[in-house]
Parts: sequence; structure tokens; C-alpha cells
Amino acid sequence: MSDGQELVYVALGGAGEIGMNLYLYGFGKGKNRRWIMVDCGVTFGDMASSPGIDIVMPDIDFIAAERKKLVGIFITHAHEDHVGALGRLWRRLKAPIYCTKFTAEIARNKLGEAGIGGKEVKTVEPHTPIEVGPFTCRYFPITHSIPGAMSLIIDTPAGRVFHTGDFKLDPEPLIGPPVDEAALADIGKEGVLALACDSTNVLMEGHAGSEGALKEGLERVMRDCEGAVAATTFASNVARLRTIAEIGRKLGRSIVIAGRAMNRMIDTAVETGAIPDFPDTISDEQAAQLPSENLLYLLTGSQGEGRAALARVATGSHPFVSLGEGDMVIYSSRTIPGNEVEVYRIHNKLSALGVRVVDADDDQIHTSGHGRSEDIKRLYELLKPQISLPLHGEHRHLRHHAKRALEWGAEAAAVATNGTMLQLSPPVNGEAPVVVEEIETGRTYLDGETFVGALDGVVRARLKLARQGHVSIALVLDEEGVLIADPEVRCLGAPEDGEGWPAPLEEMIMDAVDEAIDRLSDKDRLSDAQIEETATVACRRVCAKHWGKRPEVTAMAIRLDEED
Ligand SMILES: [Zn+2]
Ligand SMILES: [Zn+2]
Repeated sequence: MSDGQELVYVALGGAGEIGMNLYLYGFGKGKNRRWIMVDCGVTFGDMASSPGIDIVMPDIDFIAAERKKLVGIFITHAHEDHVGALGRLWRRLKAPIYCTKFTAEIARNKLGEAGIGGKEVKTVEPHTPIEVGPFTCRYFPITHSIPGAMSLIIDTPAGRVFHTGDFKLDPEPLIGPPVDEAALADIGKEGVLALACDSTNVLMEGHAGSEGALKEGLERVMRDCEGAVAATTFASNVARLRTIAEIGRKLGRSIVIAGRAMNRMIDTAVETGAIPDFPDTISDEQAAQLPSENLLYLLTGSQGEGRAALARVATGSHPFVSLGEGDMVIYSSRTIPGNEVEVYRIHNKLSALGVRVVDADDDQIHTSGHGRSEDIKRLYELLKPQISLPLHGEHRHLRHHAKRALEWGAEAAAVATNGTMLQLSPPVNGEAPVVVEEIETGRTYLDGETFVGALDGVVRARLKLARQGHVSIALVLDEEGVLIADPEVRCLGAPEDGEGWPAPLEEMIMDAVDEAIDRLSDKDRLSDAQIEETATVACRRVCAKHWGKRPEVTAMAIRLDEED
């Protein structure tokens, strides 16, 4: 292979974590290298590590600096961890976006919400080659837990990459046909240099199981309820919603949808032809006329989201859905790690209302959209890749996947987390892949409507405040630095008083600060910084001694001129 035909891979997000997927493939050397991006997702903040942050995105500085060489953005499917950052980040990239129909609709919504026109999104058909720079890409339909899930076949002069996206091999996916294994085998025969592959459930043995196989379990559970049934799952899992709705109809229940996200997803799926139809639904006014045993509610909020329909039902604040003794809530979903506390809080509230809660542990009412080891192994058998690139997983998933990949026939496997750039071809000293560069990656937080970097200190300060509280001290001084009034002290997130304390905390701080400033030399008193530092140290010392904690302190020296 001639010089300059280098094919490289690097993740900016999604490798070493589950969430905010963003992968880059580069072809060519130096100035002539061109890039494509696969997926542009978010992850969600949590109180423990990023209080106040709703959305976390990959740091895209690397590719933003190269954006003139970014020839295309491909989105494998419409889950938030694959498309959620597109609207927020696209202005820094400005490359054309290629999606199949259903995903394109969601991508346009994302851009629209960010005030960007939808023409940037080009709708393409599966199997149709898209030529962008030196890459020829085509989407290959795969089964997952959302309509329109695609793998991406990336052909370059240096070889072919098969990028799975999120997938399982579902023999009965209910929307669309099962995965075309014969076509995969043909792709394998033509030669696959690298398989970039979902690792989410690689640690679980066996097959993921099928959407179709859930019908029985869901029907059994629903038959068992004499009151109203409410079911929740991800709004995007339209196949599941359709299954539940169909069983509801069969059992003589009318369908009521509560949750905007769910209505929008179902409408988009029907409009784009991703599902052939959806059972008729009734309005909340119509529902009010029916006895509860004739109702099936489909609700958002399976992950404990505080503003979603289910949380409002649980707190009795939903405008038209109210559940109680004899009613049932079905969680046809798995709780994403990190969401357990919120999910159980709602679970307990429903329980206290007398509602019977059935979750995925109780019966065969949920299956993951991610293949387990047997699904993944099957893909290796069909595609016969030389190189395995495990992604969409935490480090432990990637590592295990890489090990298994060698058993499944790959010649090499690389555990490359975010930022590790691998050269896939040509081999370096007979080896491929090899690490050729480490690029800086990180997380960008969306805080309100503003971006903050993970290392900017904003979240770090917020964590400190959460753990230690805050004290403000205002010091009013004359020009010589003599206090002309008692220090003003205000504590936030600190106890006012404690057992055995000689005085309330604010008072003790005030006295200590007063004394410390009193002891300063005439020279030190001329410096505001010195005065503020002295007050801070005195305050921390008092707090440590009595309270046993060192709060954040803001001391402000305010000097009044003689003329004032
Ligand atoms: Zn995903
Ligand atoms: Zn997904």
C-alpha cells in the first residue's frame, strides 16, 4: 500500500463509558487527512458527580479545529447517546449530516431546537453508497430498540470498517425484518478490515432475546390486573409501545398516551413509515368516561425523570392520570445504572398509593436492545474482521470484548478509550492496529444554556459547596484598614448552632475574624488581599474547631474613603 493511505480511528466519546458516543475515522496523511464522524451523542449529569448539570457532551475541540476536513457526519440511530449533542455542537462542525429516514427526522428536530435549519440533514436510503471525500459509506439495517437503527459500512482505499452502532440480532424485531445475515456474510467475504462493535452486553452470556418473545409475558402480567394498567418504557422504543398497546386492545382496554416525548416518537415513527401503524388511542376526556379496567396508559418516565408523566402520577399531580389500589404499573425497561435512586423513589411512592408495580425482574416483560455475547460472536463469524475495535462500553466491557474477539476469530483487538488514536492500516512494523497519537478529550457540560468545561472549576466548586457549605464575610474598613463596623457574616448550608458551642456559628466567626484583623500590622492592613486572606483563615479555623468542617469562604474587604 502506498504511503499516505493511512486509515485511523479515534473516539471522542463512548469508549470507556456508556453514553455520549462520538467516533472519528480519518483517511490520508497529514494535511490531506479527511475525517468522518459517526454519531454525536450526549450523556446525562447526575447529582453525585455533576450537580445542576442536565446534559454532558464530548469535548470536540480536536475535530472542530479540523472541521474543514470533516466531510460528513453519520448518525446510526436516534437515541440520545448517539444524536443528542448534534444540535448543540453542529455550529462548530458545519459538515453535512447523513441519516436514514426516521433518524433524519429526529436529527432535524435537534437542529431545529438549536435554531439551525433542517436542510443540513440529508436523508439517505439504507444500502445506497454515499461518497464523502475518500470514504464510501452505506447504512446497513440492524435491530436494536428504536426504529431505523443502522450499522455503517465504511469503505476506504485502505480497507473496510463495519461500525455496528447499537445492535442485537433479533430474530423477531416486530418493526422491520430481522437482520439479513446472508448479506452480512457477503460483506464478510469481500473482506472486513475492522469491526467497531457495541460492547454494552458483552459480559452477559447467551442471546439478548427478541421483542417478539415478550408478548406472552406482557399479556400474562396485564391479564392479572383488574384496575387500570399503566406501562412505561423509553419513548423511542416504539416497537415495545406498539406491542403493549396491541395487547391492551386485545384485552379490551383503550389506549391513552401521557407524555409529549412519547406522542412525538410514535407520530414520527408512523409518518416516516418506520412502523406500519399504531393502535388507535383516546383522549384524556374520553378516558375520564371509562371505567379503569378498560384503560391502558402509556407513560414516559421509566428512568425516574422527575418531570415525566410517571413521576407526576406517583406524586398525585398528574392532570388526568391517577392510580391507586387495584391498579398496576409495568416497567417494561431496564433501569440505567445511576438512575436507581430516582426510579425506586417513584416505585415506593406508587407502592404507597396501593399500586402494584411490576418490573423487568418479575417477568418476561423486557429485553435489552444490545446483543449479548452470542449475538456479538455471531457477527464476528459472519463478518470475519481482521481487527476488533470494541466500543460503546466501560473499560471492563471493552477489555472483555477484546479478549473474546480473539477467540471469535479476530487477528487483533484494541482496547482504545476516548482519545487514543489507532492506525488501522497500513500496519506499522508489521502490526495493526497501533496507537499513533493520544489526543485531548474530555467532557463539556451544558449548564443552563451555557457550556462549561469539565475542568473549568464550575462543577468542582458546586460539589464543594454541596459538601461543605459556604460562608460570606463582608469587612467594612477605613483607609488604614481598621474595621469601622463588626464583620458581617452569613452562612449557607451550615448549622446555625451546635451542642456545646459557646455561641452560634455566625457569631463565633464574627468574633474570630474581628480579633484576627485586629492583630494585623499597619502594613498588612493596607492590602485588601491580606485582610481577606486573614478573615478566611480565621473563619475556617473556627469552623474546623467547633463544626468539624472547612467551608468555602468568600471574604470581601470594602474600604470607605474619608470623603464618603
Ligand atoms: Zn447507545
Ligand atoms: Zn441505542
